[in-house]
Amino acid sequence: MREQAAGEGDVDRRATGRFRGPLAGLLVALVAAGGCFVGGVSDPQGGEPAPPEPTAAPGTAATRADGTTSVEEFAQDVADAQAVAERYWAAQFRASGEGFRPIRRIISYQRAGEVSCGGQALPRNNAVYCSQGDFIAYDVAWSVAAFRQVGDAFVFYLLGHEYAHGIQVRLGIRYDFTIQQELQADCMAGAYLGDSVRSGTLTLGEGDLEEFRDGLAAVGDDPDQPWFAEGSHGTAEQRTDSFFRGYERSLAACDLG
Ligand SMILES: [Zn+2]
Repeated sequence: MREQAAGEGDVDRRATGRFRGPLAGLLVALVAAGGCFVGGVSDPQGGEPAPPEPTAAPGTAATRADGTTSVEEFAQDVADAQAVAERYWAAQFRASGEGFRPIRRIISYQRAGEVSCGGQALPRNNAVYCSQGDFIAYDVAWSVAAFRQVGDAFVFYLLGHEYAHGIQVRLGIRYDFTIQQELQADCMAGAYLGDSVRSGTLTLGEGDLEEFRDGLAAVGDDPDQPWFAEGSHGTAEQRTDSFFRGYERSLAACDLG
């Protein structure tokens, strides 16, 4: 997937491309373990995150032999996904006559408890948006593993999903069940990506659509998990449906009100 940098021509990053081998059940379990949440809006004195670190954490900065899935490329994808999301949402807010404040920070972490949200330590193997402090935080080792396993499109999806939680907060959207919040975030992530492709901001590489499907399949809830349970995100099928509804039909499909 390539971002067309505004005013700078093509940044000329080649899509890293293809699905890389069978998705381990690992990914599924890891995502389900933490889930991403909109942390403690009702607790205003909640924790500040640790100072931001470089996206490519030193401990994981080994490049792979094939040169296509390096931590540097991962970091570039995160930065690109952030830039595309900021541009996209700024335009949406502007079109509604409203000012837009980008999400304040995107933070990587390596250890459980290194970053906390509202006094709650963030676990390993997760990515979250924290409304207190208005930041996205992700376990860099887990995210790089998913990037290597699924492909670069997963990074754009993941960032887009967490970013969407920040937009929900800005819009004052708060559902009773986490599954509603999560499926809407998937739809909004789909809209940000689909619209960015249609506008030429993003160029899909071969296999990127397949990577979205692979990634969504990997982050679905266990079929036995009740939909109404706290932390439910939706089954793989529900998440895939929501994402592609947004991807194909834009934000009108996402019930933003
Ligand atoms: Zn989420």
